[in-house]
Amino acid sequence: MKLISIVVPAYNEEENISSMYTKLAQELESLPYRYEIMFINDGSSDGTLQEILALSDAHDDVKYISLTRNFGKESAMLAGLKRCSGDAAILMDSDLQHPPHLIGELVQGFEEGFHQVVAKRSRTGDSKLRSLFSSFYYRVLNSITDVDFVDGEGDFRLLSRKAINSLLALSETNRFSKGLYSWIGLSKKIISYENILRADGQQSKWSFGGLVNYGIDGIISFNTKPLRICFYTGFLVLVLSLIYIGVTFYEIMKEGVGAPGYFTTITAILFLGGIQLISLGVIGEYIGRIYNETKRRPNYLVDISNVDEYDEH
Ligand code: UDP
Ligand code: MG
Repeated sequence: MKLISIVVPAYNEEENISSMYTKLAQELESLPYRYEIMFINDGSSDGTLQEILALSDAHDDVKYISLTRNFGKESAMLAGLKRCSGDAAILMDSDLQHPPHLIGELVQGFEEGFHQVVAKRSRTGDSKLRSLFSSFYYRVLNSITDVDFVDGEGDFRLLSRKAINSLLALSETNRFSKGLYSWIGLSKKIISYENILRADGQQSKWSFGGLVNYGIDGIISFNTKPLRICFYTGFLVLVLSLIYIGVTFYEIMKEGVGAPGYFTTITAILFLGGIQLISLGVIGEYIGRIYNETKRRPNYLVDISNVDEYDEH
């Protein structure tokens, strides 16, 4: 029988862990597979780890990894993918926003031979502003990057062993999963579901600023076009200023030196200053990333776990 791994990152989710397990187990029992449910405690400061340990004492199918501190969801998922041993893995949030009843459909896609089966959510429940903002963002993102990003396609998905290994082979430290899923390619099937609100009523742990930073990460991680845009902007400003110099020179020759006043001077300084600072910022983003990548630090550190890194041989 094939083994399905459910990989669940958890950060301060003490209220959700045990009901999550119950629902998952119920769903998985009805399917003709062996399964393991792998919780990754991402440095929670509440009782999440205790909840997970209690579950793993009671059930053999519960695996866990506890990280030494909060490394972020990307790192937690990576830890889970490295240590899960399934023929396929399903990535799910632990806040019950990813409905367990979809597991059957996801696995069916896997049986049909798809390497990635994506559960795509609608945007019901999101504020108008957030939906508008994100659809605009995806349009910009897709127009300047080479990989394809789709609104509503998140981490909730099934990955075949081949897809898992392909993801693990990408060794970058700064991981932007949405881009990586698309980068590896492989056959993909999409199933849709209605968005549901978090069980505890809270909508998301993401702040607006957090989302903006995540957005910038998405753009910078997948291409160098922003550098090209800086180049073009600089070029455009150069051409415009040459025209301006020409026109002013002509007027001076014709009518003598007037006093253009401080306005033109200030405008030029501020405008150029702004463009230069933005360009420096863009270059800085890339250099910062190079700096981080060269350190070759691990994405996370494991504190305790009841599984070792998966080894095929
Ligand atoms: N999460 C995590 N580490 C973090 C933040 C979140 O492991 O630093 C987990 C969290 O417990 C949840 C999932 O990632 O299972 C998604 O988090 P959240 O619900 O806050 O985000 P959203 O649903 O808005 O994407
Ligand atoms: Mg959530």
